[in-house]
Amino acid sequence: MQRSASCSGTRSLASMLLAVLYLSTLLFATLAMAGKDYYKILGVSRDASQSEIKRQYKTLSRKHHPDKNPGDEAAHERFIELAQAYEVLSDSEKREIYNRYGEEGLKNQGAGNGGFHDPFDIFAQFFGGHVKFDRRGGGGRAKPRGPDVHIHVPVTLLELYAGAEIDVDISKQAICPHCDGSGAASPDDIDTCSTCGGSGVRIIKQMLGPGIVQQMQTTCDECHGKGRKVTKECPHCKGTRVTRASDQLTIRVEPGMADGELVAFEEEADQHPDHEPGSVVFHLQQEPHKVYERRGDDLYAEETITLADALVGFDRTLLHVDNKSKVEIARKAVTPPGYVQRLAGKGMPRRGAGASKFGDLFVTYWIQFPKELDAASKDEVRRLFGHESKAKWEPKKDGQRQARQTHDEL
Ligand SMILES: [Zn+2]
Ligand SMILES: [Zn+2]
Repeated sequence: MQRSASCSGTRSLASMLLAVLYLSTLLFATLAMAGKDYYKILGVSRDASQSEIKRQYKTLSRKHHPDKNPGDEAAHERFIELAQAYEVLSDSEKREIYNRYGEEGLKNQGAGNGGFHDPFDIFAQFFGGHVKFDRRGGGGRAKPRGPDVHIHVPVTLLELYAGAEIDVDISKQAICPHCDGSGAASPDDIDTCSTCGGSGVRIIKQMLGPGIVQQMQTTCDECHGKGRKVTKECPHCKGTRVTRASDQLTIRVEPGMADGELVAFEEEADQHPDHEPGSVVFHLQQEPHKVYERRGDDLYAEETITLADALVGFDRTLLHVDNKSKVEIARKAVTPPGYVQRLAGKGMPRRGAGASKFGDLFVTYWIQFPKELDAASKDEVRRLFGHESKAKWEPKKDGQRQARQTHDEL
């Protein structure tokens, strides 16, 4: 723009074009005032650092996620706005355009409106994608892809039941921010390799016999195939082009997620100037629960009752996995040892089936038999059950043996 002002009127067409450009830029700048203020949306100042922008996005998008605000249109809109604001301000090129020309400037660049990514994809960058993880996906990359990092994360049954957010600190290899991965102290400290002329390869000619010359191509041993040489190493990474960096990833555990489920963060693994970073893949590993065992969406528990309870019935309450709600268990009929009672809808939440769908809870009953009975009690039992002492003793059946074993265990 300054250039157009300093130009004389000799190149009329060029200066006219520049004037039009200048005017349209002014127009964009004016429109930007009326457009969305991405800094305001994220609640950061105009000179906010990348990590500040990241942190704000993480906090606010969690708060306004549609899952946390079912049916709230305003929260949904806000969630989309946050993703757009983050997408623009986290990209130095887009941020620059936005700072100068506003939202309209981005649209003009083809980066606006239709150029935005799915807000849920942006969110997944921070909280992991719960998609089936496929290592071979995303072909046609410009650079080879680095290895994925697999990390086992212990989770409790309560976290898998109620959902949770787990912050994981990771240490990884990052491209040196001081030399931007060149390994040189400054851009002037990179020379084209004089041995190979920058091609990274050398042609070796070998005389095999009179008039017979064999040509062989070999990697330039001077620059190791890079085609360039660093004359002065970057003092921060000592020429290695990479440094160690730490990052925090937040795993969003959804209610009903399975033991062993994978949560992948794309391109969050080690960085290297020569390859695309692989994914960080978290493997959720459920810790054993002291009361409940999970199989699929169902829960299993065991409960010990007294012999009297087994005979006359009982009612009691179990504390559910969420450590809050009570599960009423009651029986009026006789409960034999090993009896399994099914409590429909008291299991784990079923994923993708809406918040109201749950698996079942199965309670297996074991009976605490008295250690011994005195003579009077024995008579009473005989009287009650009509079991006479002179009754013939029958060999044990399987059921009896099982009951006896259970008694021993208790
Ligand atoms: Zn070379
Ligand atoms: Zn460096």
